[in-house]
Amino acid sequence: MSELELKPAAGRDRKMTEMAAAFGISPAVWAIGEKTEQRLKDRFAKIQETAEYNQYKVLRAMQECRVSAECFSSGTGYGYNDPGRDTLEEVYAHIFHTEAALVRAQITCGTHALAVALFGNLRPGDELLSISGKPYDTLEEVIGIRPSRGSLAEYGVSYRQVDLLEDGSFDFEKIRSAVTAKTKMVEIQRSKGYQTRPSLSVAKIAQAIAFVKSIREDILVLVDNCYGEFVEWEEPSDYGADIVVGSLIKNPGGGLAPVGGYIAGTRECIENAACRLTTPGLGREVGASLGVNRSFFQGIFLAPTVTASALKGAIFAANIYERLGFSVVPNAQEERHDIIQAVEFGTPEGLIAFCEGIQAAAPVDSYVRPEPWAMPGYDSDVIMAAGAFIQGSSIELSADGPLKPPYAAYFQGGLTWEHAKLGILKSLQSLVDKGLVKPEEL
Ligand SMILES: *Cc1c(COP(=O)(O)O)cnc(C)c1O
Repeated sequence: MSELELKPAAGRDRKMTEMAAAFGISPAVWAIGEKTEQRLKDRFAKIQETAEYNQYKVLRAMQECRVSAECFSSGTGYGYNDPGRDTLEEVYAHIFHTEAALVRAQITCGTHALAVALFGNLRPGDELLSISGKPYDTLEEVIGIRPSRGSLAEYGVSYRQVDLLEDGSFDFEKIRSAVTAKTKMVEIQRSKGYQTRPSLSVAKIAQAIAFVKSIREDILVLVDNCYGEFVEWEEPSDYGADIVVGSLIKNPGGGLAPVGGYIAGTRECIENAACRLTTPGLGREVGASLGVNRSFFQGIFLAPTVTASALKGAIFAANIYERLGFSVVPNAQEERHDIIQAVEFGTPEGLIAFCEGIQAAAPVDSYVRPEPWAMPGYDSDVIMAAGAFIQGSSIELSADGPLKPPYAAYFQGGLTWEHAKLGILKSLQSLVDKGLVKPEEL
């Protein structure tokens, strides 16, 4: 037997608390983490099951599409005949069970992907109907809810919205009466984003899709899938969504994609989107991959397990902070439909201390102290913690929040569970050090 195997558990515990101490985490705070992790064993096992299923789904797609070493070569210039890019798009279509997909470095972010899908598929005189209430902030200017240069409204596309009911479910009655002859597309946002409503399960979205299609079959359904990919066993496109859209610096990029977005859907919808992303006539044929193919492939390959890590981190944080008496959304027990966790601190000091802790646990820029600042487009100062390999990546451990009541930190990501755990414990330590919580309260 090796020496390692003979070592008693106490030896491992000591080594761990010593390691935690090197990060400035006290034995008491570390112990809270251990206890919490122990309590969450069954839930973590379930998340692991989802990750396993999704890992095989991705792997199978790669095999079916015959991904080869040639796919990692880099295209330049026009980017005609880029086998890597075309195969990658086929892989996405297999994963999402759609006819086609557009997965490009030229899609600059999630908002851009959504805008391309909307502009590509809507024409003057059409109406867009959101049935999950107010869409994500950045879409307000895309749609023209807030007057904006180049919005859909400027092109004669009108917009209507049906809010979710109090309990977060779809308002089917109102949806039925909001659909008119003009309604060309219905939009559903899976994740709550930075709102307080619950995120939508794939099952609920499936119901809504079926309902919309029962009113009129030719209404297109677009799902903003940001932060939701691989959280469940299935995706909205498994239930008839015509288009699903997301960002590659969130879940499906697996932390490796340096930029990009995806749009997956029916052949017709994807061709329409491609003609908007590039030009009519050129469509999907152009768009050099510029050396990102390998990270896109490797990123989607890792995405199911990376998403699982982030999910464990979110649940871990909810459990720790809820026990300390803070309001957390979703709560400690709730089933998850995305990777975002909100914790309401009630005071600016709490929010700042939390973000400082997350930053201090980062692999990059850990020595930087985040400061609240007047970010453009916000009506209060905002604090952000991110020590990421990819700038702005929110599948990496990150947190931010506006400095106004209820002083909520929105927290997400974690490329590995181990790092997410350490980051959350470091945030707790930061609150303890400032006297904002006492570890014996747990
Ligand atoms: C992040 C996000 C977007 C926009 O993505 P960006 O990459 O920030 O432009 C849209 N919708 C939802 C629900 C999101 O979470």
